[in-house]
Amino acid sequence: MQYANYHTHTNFSDGITFPDVYIEKAIEQKLHSLGFSDHAPIPIYGKKWNMPYEKLSNYYETLNELNAKYKDNIRILTSLEIDYIPDVVNPKSDFLQLNKLDYTIGSVHYLGGLAHGELWGFELLGSELHRGLHEIFKGNVMKLVEEYYKNIREMIQHFTPDIIGHIDRIKIINKQETLFEENEQWYQDEIDETLKLISQKRVIMEVNTKGMFANELQDPYPSFWILEKAKEMNIPIILSSDAHHPEHLISGFDNISNRLAAIKYPIISEFPLPK
Ligand SMILES: [Zn+2]
Ligand SMILES: [Zn+2]
Repeated sequence: MQYANYHTHTNFSDGITFPDVYIEKAIEQKLHSLGFSDHAPIPIYGKKWNMPYEKLSNYYETLNELNAKYKDNIRILTSLEIDYIPDVVNPKSDFLQLNKLDYTIGSVHYLGGLAHGELWGFELLGSELHRGLHEIFKGNVMKLVEEYYKNIREMIQHFTPDIIGHIDRIKIINKQETLFEENEQWYQDEIDETLKLISQKRVIMEVNTKGMFANELQDPYPSFWILEKAKEMNIPIILSSDAHHPEHLISGFDNISNRLAAIKYPIISEFPLPK
């Protein structure tokens, strides 16, 4: 199968190297399309993995030039992985010059602020995870997880992205210790409600393989039981690796595409249609 990857981070945000190194690798691996989706800038207090706003114009210019340079070999697409932070940034934020994008990925990485106003990212595990859990959610894991899915649904409802990024990313908090079980009823209810909205809004859901190769959890995002539900609802899916390194562009793709084929869940390959 000829693959495409629509979720890629370069050194414009927290990826390891320049976009052209990824492109060369993608051509070597015979990808038909490569979409760049660096972490969009966040006004005021972006973390170190977000692109600084000053680099945004250069990002667009660079990708335009590379698109032209490589157009006979591969389709290069321009995107951003845009955070949803209520009242701060969302996939429809004008300051991102959205007309320069071929598509948007909307993701939630931050949940509220710490006591001194610092943005809290739940992906930082260990003591940082517990700091946010206690300072913001009074130690209540269910509240934290519910807030995550509430934000995901608000984003889909009001600022609909083309692709919803790693929809159950919040399960990363279970990496070092089990804080909740995915088969608990309240969690299943959150997933059901979220899938319903995704289906209504016709958002594409990515099947993100990063967890399978980046020493996270062995499942993709979302977990396979969620994919089985999504399939019943005819939610369109694409494969993405969330690569931060050129070596990872299609990591996990053979494995997951076989599993999806086994349940007859088709993957969108050509996306988006050319303008
Ligand atoms: Zn992400
Ligand atoms: Zn990403």
